[in-house]
Amino acid sequence: MIERELKELKILTDNLGTSAGENWFANGNELLSHSPVDGKLIGKVKTSTKADYEKVIKFSEDAFKEWRLLPAPKRGEIIRQFGEKLREKKEFLGKLVSYEMGKSYQEGLGEVQEMIDICDFAIGLSRQLYGATIHSERPMHRMYDQYHPLGIVGIISAFNFPVAVWAWNTCLALVCGNVVIWKPSEKTPFCAIACQKILAEVLKQNNIVEGVSSLVIGDKEIGELISHDKKVALVSATGSTRMGIEVNKVVAARLGKTILELGGNNAIIVTPDADLKIMLTAVVFGAVGTAGQRCTTTRRLIVHESIFDKVKDALVNAYKQIKIGNPLDSANHVGPLIDTDAVESYLLALDEINKEGGKILVETGVLEGKDYSSNCYVKPVIAEVENDYKIVQKETFAPILYLIKYKGDVMNAIEIQNNVKQGLSSAIMTNNLREAELFLSQQGSDCGIANVNIGTSGAEIGGAFGGEKETGGGRESGSDAWKAYMRRQTNTINYSTDVPLAQGIKFNF
Ligand code: NAD
Repeated sequence: MIERELKELKILTDNLGTSAGENWFANGNELLSHSPVDGKLIGKVKTSTKADYEKVIKFSEDAFKEWRLLPAPKRGEIIRQFGEKLREKKEFLGKLVSYEMGKSYQEGLGEVQEMIDICDFAIGLSRQLYGATIHSERPMHRMYDQYHPLGIVGIISAFNFPVAVWAWNTCLALVCGNVVIWKPSEKTPFCAIACQKILAEVLKQNNIVEGVSSLVIGDKEIGELISHDKKVALVSATGSTRMGIEVNKVVAARLGKTILELGGNNAIIVTPDADLKIMLTAVVFGAVGTAGQRCTTTRRLIVHESIFDKVKDALVNAYKQIKIGNPLDSANHVGPLIDTDAVESYLLALDEINKEGGKILVETGVLEGKDYSSNCYVKPVIAEVENDYKIVQKETFAPILYLIKYKGDVMNAIEIQNNVKQGLSSAIMTNNLREAELFLSQQGSDCGIANVNIGTSGAEIGGAFGGEKETGGGRESGSDAWKAYMRRQTNTINYSTDVPLAQGIKFNF
């Protein structure tokens, strides 16, 4: 099923090599990438050393000096061509994402579609990078603000969105006039190589200077080089809260800029006025999609006591129909976890649930047999718990859905929902206008994303994406998230024959 794609991947990676022209230097140890789908070796890739990183930085610095001079709409044109290439490569890249990361082929295609969508968004944006004109208090003065590129943007990304997160950052950063260096997850290097190759081809065809987009492969040590490096103006880091805290500490110490996209602990509130049909699809997809490995995965379901048993029964029934297996087979709903460490975390979480007094409502465990030879397939879990259990307060990156009961008013449910350290995505299922508006108000959800009658996962690129509290506070993608990739400059121009001072200050000599 995947043979053709693997051949194409080999051609891509062979051509990419370690040549300077492609801005990927790799003289370090070998990194092996195994597919969580069938446990097979996808390939070996050389990682980047510190010396390789230094070379990349030099290329990036030089490239920035030229790239920033290209008018923004012309930079947008390069992104348009990149989007066209992605359209051609959608099936290939979608399958590769599915095979290396383990999400369903449909979700792999969805990820590539997000890349295409952000290209379209960035093309329009390249003609809209505008600041405000402000009326000066001084006569014959003009004041305005404008946005300039920052320089080198370092992108550190997680395994679970191995291509889209890079594209969100890269497309915006590039149209804003920056150059980018990408440190992908060490768990999905081939997705990164394929993306880099596709963009590198477009840049080459347009005779763009080398170093506009670069790749460094390796583990957290390469990520640390980026976060320590004063030459990297902005570090956009996506991953666990643990990683975000480390990166933030280092970048803040050198007063660099960060965009942090970290862990979530997302909840859906189900009120007595909810449409339970909508609720069921949204919750099941939100909880088991990508095998619970989305930052926006639905982890907690906060249900009113009057409908608790009904919702519980509907969910338990729905889970009986879920098919687990090869994610490239469209008949399956749930694929594997990324690796056996993730399986270990799943099993530990089940122990914790039991220890803390939770009630597991469905059959759990790791699947065995020839169809599950990677040992990464687990059964999705529903557990009845209390919100203050230690395990419920944590993000376990696996398909575990916690059922929590609330009593009385919707404000009680909102309080439970907000009572975690993370603040990424949230939703309410209700047809009651008051409940919906309360949920969206300043006394409602404290998350970066708050939805009504939609689940917690599956954001559109047009909106700003990100979350509060331990989720890091960064925003990527749509709306005015581009401003984080630029520096603002306020300009005042005096075209009078006098020098009037601001605030009416007199200074005569
Ligand atoms: P991870 O934190 O283990 O790794 C993420 C990336 O950070 C990897 O490239 C890794 O090599 C690098 N890294 C780790 N420690 C580092 C350090 N000290 N300095 C520099 N780089 C370092 O995360 P993961 O397991 O790949 O991904 C899962 C996590 O990512 C989950 O917590 C999930 O919620 C989160 N995530 C968040 C978003 C979001 O937008 N909020 C999106 C996707 C994933």
